[in-house]
Amino acid sequence: KGVVANFRCALPHRDTAFQWFRPDGVLAYLPLPDQQMSMVWSAPDALADELVALPPEALCARVAEAGGFRLGELELITPAAAFPLRLMRVNEVVRPRLALIGDAAHAIHPLSGHGINLGYQDARTLAAQLADLPDWRDPGDLSLLRAYARARAEETALLQYTTHGLNRLFKPANPLLAGLRNLGLNLTNQFPVLRNSLVRYAVSGHF
Ligand SMILES: Cc1cc2nc3c(=O)[nH]c(=O)nc-3n(C[C@H](O)[C@H](O)[C@H](O)COP(=O)(O)OP(=O)(O)OC[C@H]3O[C@@H](n4cnc5c(N)ncnc54)[C@H](O)[C@@H]3O)c2cc1C
Repeated sequence: KGVVANFRCALPHRDTAFQWFRPDGVLAYLPLPDQQMSMVWSAPDALADELVALPPEALCARVAEAGGFRLGELELITPAAAFPLRLMRVNEVVRPRLALIGDAAHAIHPLSGHGINLGYQDARTLAAQLADLPDWRDPGDLSLLRAYARARAEETALLQYTTHGLNRLFKPANPLLAGLRNLGLNLTNQFPVLRNSLVRYAVSGHF
C-alpha cells in the first residue's frame, strides 16, 4: 500500500525530494511550499495498516526516524491514509473518437516519480498530432488515434514494468535479491553520471 500524509518540517527541504530504499519499503519526502512535505511510504500491508493506525505524534516520530531526521522533527498536518498499489493496464488506449491519457491510460508506481510527466507527454503527443491535421480529416478517426497510441506505447510500458519490477525488488521478503539490490543502488550513488542520467530522465523524459 502507499501511505500518504503531509507534514510541516523543522528543517528547510530546499525544494529537494528524498527517497530511501528501505528493507520495509520505499519512503519518499516530496517538497511542498512553506516548509512542508508530502510523504509517500510504499509499504507492505501490515506496516501500512500499522502506520495509519498510529496517533499523530507517534507517526511523526516514526516517519522522521525512518528518514534519518533529514528534515528534523515533523508535525502532522493531514491525517495519514493508505491506498492499495497495484499494476493496472488497459487493453486499449484508443477507440473511435476516444483517447485515454495520463493515469487513465497507464497507472504507474509512485516510486518512479514519473506519473505526471507521462501524462503531460501523452497530452503533448496527442495535441501535436491533432494540430497537424488538415481541416478535412476527422480528429476522432481511429487510424489517427492509433498513431498516438503507438507513439506512447513504448515509453509507458517501459516505465510501468521497470517501476513495478523495482518495487518487487524492494519487497522485504526477498533476501536473495537484497545484496544485488544494495549493490545496484550503491553503484548508482557512486557513479554520478548514471545517477544524473536517471535524474535527467525523471525531469525531462530523455537520458
Ligand atoms: C501517492 C502518490 C504519489 C505520487 N507522486 C508522484 C510524483 O512525485 N511525481 C509524479 O510525477 N507523479 C506522482 N504521482 C502520480 C501522479 O499523481 C499521477 O500520475 C497524476 O496525478 C495523474 O494525473 P491524471 O490527470 O491522469 O489523473 P488524476 O490526477 O487522477 O485526475 C483525474 C481526475 O478525474 C476525476 N474524476 C474521476 N472520475 C471522474 C468522473 N466520473 N467524473 C468527473 N471527474 C472524475 C478525479 O477526481 C481526478 O480529479 C503520484 C501518485 C500517487 C498516488
